[in-house]
Amino acid sequence: MNQPAPLPLTHKAQVAVRQTRLLIDGEFRNSLSGKTFATVDPSTEEVIAQVAEGDAEDIDLAVQAARKAFDSGPWRQMDARERGRRMLKWADLIEDHMEELAKLEVLDNGKPINEALGYDIPSAAATLRYFAGWADKIHGKTIPISGPFFTYTRREPVGVCGLIIPWNFPLAMAAWKLGPALAAGCTAILKPAEQTPLTALRAGELALEAGIPPGVLNIVPGFGPTAGAALVQHPLVEKIAFTGEYKTAQTIKQATINSMKRLSFELGGKSPNIIFNDANLEEAITGSFGAIFLNQGQNCCAGSRAFVHNNIYDEFVEQFAEKAAKRKLGDPFDPATEHGAQIDKAQFDKIMRYIALGKEQGAKCVTGGERAFEQGYFIQPTIFREVKEDMAIATDEIFGPVASVLRFKDINEVIEKANNTPFGLAAAVWTQDIDKANAVAAGVKAGTVWVNCYNVVDPAAPFGGFKLSGLGRELGEQALDAYTETKTVTVLR
Ligand code: NAD
Repeated sequence: MNQPAPLPLTHKAQVAVRQTRLLIDGEFRNSLSGKTFATVDPSTEEVIAQVAEGDAEDIDLAVQAARKAFDSGPWRQMDARERGRRMLKWADLIEDHMEELAKLEVLDNGKPINEALGYDIPSAAATLRYFAGWADKIHGKTIPISGPFFTYTRREPVGVCGLIIPWNFPLAMAAWKLGPALAAGCTAILKPAEQTPLTALRAGELALEAGIPPGVLNIVPGFGPTAGAALVQHPLVEKIAFTGEYKTAQTIKQATINSMKRLSFELGGKSPNIIFNDANLEEAITGSFGAIFLNQGQNCCAGSRAFVHNNIYDEFVEQFAEKAAKRKLGDPFDPATEHGAQIDKAQFDKIMRYIALGKEQGAKCVTGGERAFEQGYFIQPTIFREVKEDMAIATDEIFGPVASVLRFKDINEVIEKANNTPFGLAAAVWTQDIDKANAVAAGVKAGTVWVNCYNVVDPAAPFGGFKLSGLGRELGEQALDAYTETKTVTVLR
């Protein structure tokens, strides 16, 4: 192994961290205990700021505020169009502060600035805008039942929502939950991931400026087993929407077993990316590359299992590896950087363990496999060939820049192999034969299937998992189901 070089810091972050305190009932405040925790820049390993650490007693305050705002506050009673207008204003303010928010995201998360500017922040604004448009379109139906009755349904907000999100797309994940929750008239307590609290807090300031009333949006950074668990267990919370690991989702399910809290889960994946021998190889390689290496592989729908037809396997692997070797790693604030740092030491160590395991179990590492710089959590884009289905790198969600390339001979075999996983979040197929593409789309058990593309996620298109990848859908009209209750009203005529 070569000695890694120092990280060339060419574009040192120029962004002030304006907000590090909890947002409760329209005010930013310290935690009741006075405790704080450090948030760390993954590319330098330096502490960025101390953030107020929410605990059970802060969660309780936030839940009380959200309860009051739901039961007697203006949000739910507000003209739905006005609710939508305020959400639109919030989306506008997020766009107006695009550069500041993108820099905060890069600082906190280690992702390249071009990704934060190109996806994270604009997509958060677009998601809020999409759901703002739904605010005055959530309505029931009249239903012709038997007898002298007039029956109709109302769709009512579910109530106080606990929203728990991960660190990989911090502001975007917040918007995926807050968009439908606020449009439906719910109030919310958002618990950002402990690694990445900064953009949510800054966006919380902008929400107040946009006229989202006090108590409607509360933000309590803190740790999972303390703040997260307190939110999940709080009796005044009607719904928990969670994005994160399957194991955490199980803990949440167990903790709510004696309640009827509404639960929705967006969990992990081990998504198959299937490349047939009639695919446009250049496009398939570019697409498969983004599928696994976007966001340093920290993507729930990462195409981490590339199934490549035997006839093109060698050619594919060679070109795939050449592309990976050319990928530009470096200072995430440098606009030329394509690949940033992993989120933290724990993830870095986990990914390096999987790389070692891949080698031990007999897969061939054709490129990457090493730490990239002596400082920061950078890992080279890594590609394994001759991966067998039962190797750990082919079965487990690594959540890092590690591609496993497997072989297949025919369509039935590859559909079976693609489905040989407990997960079912996403899949892709690359072919010029539309019948084959449709057969794979029908046969693969996954919430999203991309044909000749990857990572196309739009606020209007439902997103979610089959099997252990989740419960319910985010985005699209279907997301509103998770934040509304249907009430049936029957009137004797
Ligand atoms: P994680 O489950 O460790 O943490 C997610 C959030 O849950 C964090 O805010 C954490 O503080 C909180 N948490 C942890 N323990 C908790 C508890 N006992 N009670 C309540 N909250 C608790 O997941 P992570 O490592 O932050 O994120 C990576 C995972 O998220 C991967 O599995 C990835 O695939 C998944 N993910 C899924 C999607 C999707 O849309 N399906 C999107 C992004 C990430």
